[in-house]
Amino acid sequence: MICFISPTASSFHSDNEHSVRTASFFRRYSNKKATIAPPKVAIVFFPSVFLQEKRNNHSKICIFAAQKNLSMAIRIQNITKHYGAQKALNKVSLEINTGEIVGLLGPNGAGKSTMMKIITCFLPPSEGSVSVNGFDIFENSEEVRRSVGYLPEHNPLYHDMYVREYLEFVAGVYKLKNKSSRIEKMIELTGLELEQHKKIGALSKGYRQRVGLAQAMIHDPQVLILDEPTSGLDPNQLIEIRKLIANIGKEKTVILSTHIMQEVEAMCDRIIIIDRGEIVADDRSENIVAMTSSADVVIVEFDHNVDKSQLKKIKGVTNVTKINEKKWKLHAGKNSDVRSDLFQFAVENNLKVLEMSKEEASLESVFQQLTKKK
Ligand code: ADP
Ligand code: MG
Repeated sequence: MICFISPTASSFHSDNEHSVRTASFFRRYSNKKATIAPPKVAIVFFPSVFLQEKRNNHSKICIFAAQKNLSMAIRIQNITKHYGAQKALNKVSLEINTGEIVGLLGPNGAGKSTMMKIITCFLPPSEGSVSVNGFDIFENSEEVRRSVGYLPEHNPLYHDMYVREYLEFVAGVYKLKNKSSRIEKMIELTGLELEQHKKIGALSKGYRQRVGLAQAMIHDPQVLILDEPTSGLDPNQLIEIRKLIANIGKEKTVILSTHIMQEVEAMCDRIIIIDRGEIVADDRSENIVAMTSSADVVIVEFDHNVDKSQLKKIKGVTNVTKINEKKWKLHAGKNSDVRSDLFQFAVENNLKVLEMSKEEASLESVFQQLTKKK
């Protein structure tokens, strides 16, 4: 339940500038439309627990939410994007909760960057609406930009600028009051201490990516949109940047795009697979793997030759593929584990099992299944 209570009559008159400001403040924290009920009290109800209390000169606002981390950060409703005759996004809707780290996965050309450009107000959708922290991308685009940090694909930076000089420039664009403390904080957070006086053009790709992350976070946005933040990094840089993003994700809502399956599996709470402008899967990563119709596979090697027909009779086995006379690949139905029956089969037939291993369905196979050309 949320109570929005003002001790003063003046703060809730709908024609009063303060009431409008209070209402937008309220909207920002609750993601609900404020109902202003003059003259004294406005109360909006929804199921929740107490979250925090805010005060200003005129009013006291008690903010409640279902759970601290479950208020809405991004709401996308039915967006379509046309580039001329091409439809890059087709009626996409989704909601992202505060504090989630969401992986946007999809093949090249799926529409990931387009969606990110729309959320960050770089491109308008042809149809549909988007709000970030309760602010609409058309009506409150300045507020949206303030709430969002964006690392675009290919990380466009001024290569002739020095790292610190560039961060000062970005801080100036946001008109930050605490400019120097924010720059210090970003340099520390992204590990740029030793590179801060170097030209951006002289940095390695991993360090340029850190500069990109530092500029995206300098205004302390609540939402971070990272378009392929790890593409082109070497394995060491990849690990470092992933760690950095996971660290940042503890405090912020993050959407990152990638086509590396292991990356989303390792970093994200939730995975959205997008293909040809449409969402084809949206779930927690373990549930997405479970969605696959591809069955588990067991590889087994015996000390003697075995007949395919014998193996096919084992309970739960749906198909058998020969690797050689002694080594076989057994396909099992979804969620059925054939290993104990297989072992029993070996005992009954006086066979020694030299090797037995189970391959589980991977996120990669789900991705292939969901995005294969129809
Ligand atoms: P992704 O980031 O998933 O690779 P994009 O959002 O960049 O996909 O692109 C989606 C589709 O829209 C692609 O077919 C791409 O060629 C097309 N597209 C993207 N930007 C433009 C543009 N500015 N003009 C024309 N077509 C575009
Ligand atoms: Mg892209």
